[in-house]
Amino acid sequence: MRDPRYDILFEPMDIGPVTSKNRFYQVPHCNGGGYRDPSAAAAMRGIKSQGGWGVVFTEQCEMHHTSEITPFIELRLWEDKDIPQLRKMSEKMKEHGALAGIQLAYSGINGPNLYSKEVPLAVSAMPIRTFTNDPVQARALDKSDIRDLRRWFVNAAKRSKDAGFDLICLYGAHGFGIFQHFLSRATNQRSDEYGGSLENRARFVNEVISDMRDAVGDTMGITLRVSLDETIGDLGFSNAEVRDFIEMNRDLPDLWDLAQGTWEDCSGPSRFKEEAAQEQLVRGIHDLTDKPIVGVGRFTSPDVMAKTIRSGTLDFIGCARPSIADPFLPKKIEEGRIEDIRECIGCNICITGDMTMSISRCTQNPTFMEEWRKGWHPEQMNAKGGSSSVLVVGSGPAGLEATRALAERGYDVALAEAKTVLGGRVARERQLPGLSAWGRVVDYREYQISQKPNVETYFDSPLDAEGILEFGFENICVATGAKWREDGVSRQHVVPMPINGDMPVYTPDHIMDGKIPSGKVVIYDDDHYYMGGVLAELLVNAGCDVTIITPSAYLSDWTVNTLEQHAIHKKLAGMGVNVVLNRGVIRIEADHVVSDCVYTGTEQNFDCGSVVMVASKLENNELYHALKARESEWADAGIKSVELIGDANAPGPIAWATYAGHRYARELDGEDIGDALPFRREITELAIG
Ligand code: ADP
Ligand code: SF4
Repeated sequence: MRDPRYDILFEPMDIGPVTSKNRFYQVPHCNGGGYRDPSAAAAMRGIKSQGGWGVVFTEQCEMHHTSEITPFIELRLWEDKDIPQLRKMSEKMKEHGALAGIQLAYSGINGPNLYSKEVPLAVSAMPIRTFTNDPVQARALDKSDIRDLRRWFVNAAKRSKDAGFDLICLYGAHGFGIFQHFLSRATNQRSDEYGGSLENRARFVNEVISDMRDAVGDTMGITLRVSLDETIGDLGFSNAEVRDFIEMNRDLPDLWDLAQGTWEDCSGPSRFKEEAAQEQLVRGIHDLTDKPIVGVGRFTSPDVMAKTIRSGTLDFIGCARPSIADPFLPKKIEEGRIEDIRECIGCNICITGDMTMSISRCTQNPTFMEEWRKGWHPEQMNAKGGSSSVLVVGSGPAGLEATRALAERGYDVALAEAKTVLGGRVARERQLPGLSAWGRVVDYREYQISQKPNVETYFDSPLDAEGILEFGFENICVATGAKWREDGVSRQHVVPMPINGDMPVYTPDHIMDGKIPSGKVVIYDDDHYYMGGVLAELLVNAGCDVTIITPSAYLSDWTVNTLEQHAIHKKLAGMGVNVVLNRGVIRIEADHVVSDCVYTGTEQNFDCGSVVMVASKLENNELYHALKARESEWADAGIKSVELIGDANAPGPIAWATYAGHRYARELDGEDIGDALPFRREITELAIG
């Protein structure tokens, strides 16, 4: 059972008047569902409780309509009408013994109020600071506004209690919450008793916590989430000032929740941030307070967790992404099943659900946010259906997840892979600069499959239709992946672009095969996710002189949604990459590319000795079509179904492939739902009148 080295992680601890059963603390995290998908969000939190977390929090909950962050979809507690959906969430959180926490947010300078149309109220009058630079300014809170705001916090605290929560987190981190705006000299330029000295800047948070204690403090724990460093230089709420603040207010909250800097810092992807990256910033703070501390750091290793607590750095292990990738992380440590932990890979695909206001997904855990919508459980598969055997062709993320999940259901599975290693694209991409943690997608599944007596794996087995018709498997799952195109077809070019045959053109596949160009290289990036930027890094490291040209206004544009666009541009610019934005490539000549401005069409030549084409991908679907062409022979061959999944069906990020593999495994032998919607959803109840 449990390794005694990890006993410390299971010691109970008080947070004000309530007690957490262990040290596993799911800090607030978004999920793209929020108030639009309350049952989906509630079920997701319930699974965490079942997975053994001692504390489970909501995402940020807007506590008053005068401060909201539309278009982002979080929670709302604006009036009593909001209580039932939040109660549903707290009940799910508490079902298996976790403390239920709600994070109350007043966004101040970050809330453009596009929905409520209220004039934003902030600590000082300034332009609203959002991802989208909305052309809106905030008015400074006057004394009577501050009195109102204190009352609104008390109202929200009482409603939180009514909704069944045990803990309230006051949001003052990541640059997002009003408490940080008061504390930081950058956003607090007041000359009254709420501005100036640190004591004055800390007045508001002291008042709110005191008010809340009077209102609900006998039964609820009140925590304060602040950033360890605002990371904007001397003017910001620096790590030194955070320490002064905590020392001056030792016992202010019932627990200090210490996030990193901006959200980009705190949720740093593995490409740029290691596990426990904030250790330096948090070390020693424990000596300044008698209250417990929680901190984050994409913790997935129980050794690092236990060490962090034993050393007195933290009292609680805060996790958002690790709890998404594996909601059963605490249970697995408790049951001595360390090797079953599905470690977060730090890709930040989960965050894209919030940033795109859709609904989150997770590369490692395809059941995330499908717990209610599809009834998917991260640790339990549905019972086996009528057939018995499946041949999975291709061991990329789609084929691997299908194999793992099918075996879990009890099917006999044969996994055939043309190459000598498992993993498909992930086995290759994990070798690229900064992406080694992505290999966990393969490692987790490879180990799980190795433990299953009902899976046979065949390497060096490029299958064709003829062979498959002879094998006698009942179900064929074709997960043969995709390859990068050489002809430039993507968004700018819907048909192949003119390319002079004397210019060497490489694709990401060539480079991952070890064919590396030299000298002057132009990367044409019309893919806009990570690959173009990663290859620029690789080629600079290989000694190339690199220019990257993209029709977008931003380098690696879509990585805005994974919170790493800024870090990518900064890194490549620092490495000397020539970044050319807002320009396409209209043709490739023998010794240069001809680029066009996306606005004016003005042409410019870029000399180079080779071109790397990061455009779109072509599906490897020949095998599937060859099988389909022989459908009349299936019955004699004992074949009941042939399905195409993952990149071979429609190329996308790795998370799309693990989802496709999981879905295939769930739905095999399922009933035909005809034209019905394949997931549950909630629809707003119409108001009468
Ligand atoms: P996905 O992202 O959809 O899982 P990948 O491209 O990562 O796709 O993986 C596809 C895998 O399928 C690769 O490892 C490739 O070698 C393998 N593969 C492709 N065609 C065949 C085939 N005919 N027989 C066996 N394996 C194949
Ligand atoms: Fe981790 Fe990626 Fe899953 Fe987010 S999507 S929890 S970063 S594996």
